[in-house]
Amino acid sequence: MTDSAPPSKRMKFGFFDENIQVVVGPMRKRFNLHADVLTTRSPYFKSAIAKRASTPDPPKGEEGSSQSTVLQSTAKLRGDIELLDVEPEIFETYSQYLYQDTLDFDAPDDLTLDELVSVHILAAKLGDLRATNMAIDQMIKTSDKQHVVPGGSLVAIAFAGTSESSPLHRLLVDFYMYEADKQVFTESSQLMPPASCKAFMQRYIELKSGEGDAFFSQKISALPACSYHQHDSSCPPC
Ligand SMILES: [Zn+2]
Repeated sequence: MTDSAPPSKRMKFGFFDENIQVVVGPMRKRFNLHADVLTTRSPYFKSAIAKRASTPDPPKGEEGSSQSTVLQSTAKLRGDIELLDVEPEIFETYSQYLYQDTLDFDAPDDLTLDELVSVHILAAKLGDLRATNMAIDQMIKTSDKQHVVPGGSLVAIAFAGTSESSPLHRLLVDFYMYEADKQVFTESSQLMPPASCKAFMQRYIELKSGEGDAFFSQKISALPACSYHQHDSSCPPC
């Protein structure tokens, strides 16, 4: 998916005649992707590609300028789309999702909780609600399958990478509310950010007053599908 022709599109995307170069990470790894695949899923890319398309072509230049010089100038003016603070491995995973419409890959490519948190943070940045919801669903599934809750360092990464209102905050807090035992909490809490303490307190009071003792035996995977999703007109409720 990098430095070469973009992957084949599924029929539902129809036809589009433009490929986009996305430059990712400090080492500037290049990804060659279809414009309509990017714009269908991400308002961030939609805006960036529209802005890029509205950039006027450069002046023709002095008579005698070679065509290749003009083309190079056009490429420089219109530019690639840069995501220099994103890990290429995570963008690679996001690219796979764009073309396969899933984050539930078969072994050995199944994603770890760390990778899923990073994909969620990237998808939130790109405004791709469908991908944020899929990352949440896959985290719940993986946690259930492996009988683990996300560790304290992962909570710190998630709290730093998303806003306070993010459903990812609530999911991580709920993992500890519903499923972590004392030992897990004690070990993980040393790595958790101060902001998570307030979130834990608030959620505890909310659950305790709403569900009483019942919440101690609750499993996150048994909650309604949209409990930690975000939806809008581009991403209707499940
Ligand atoms: Zn939903």
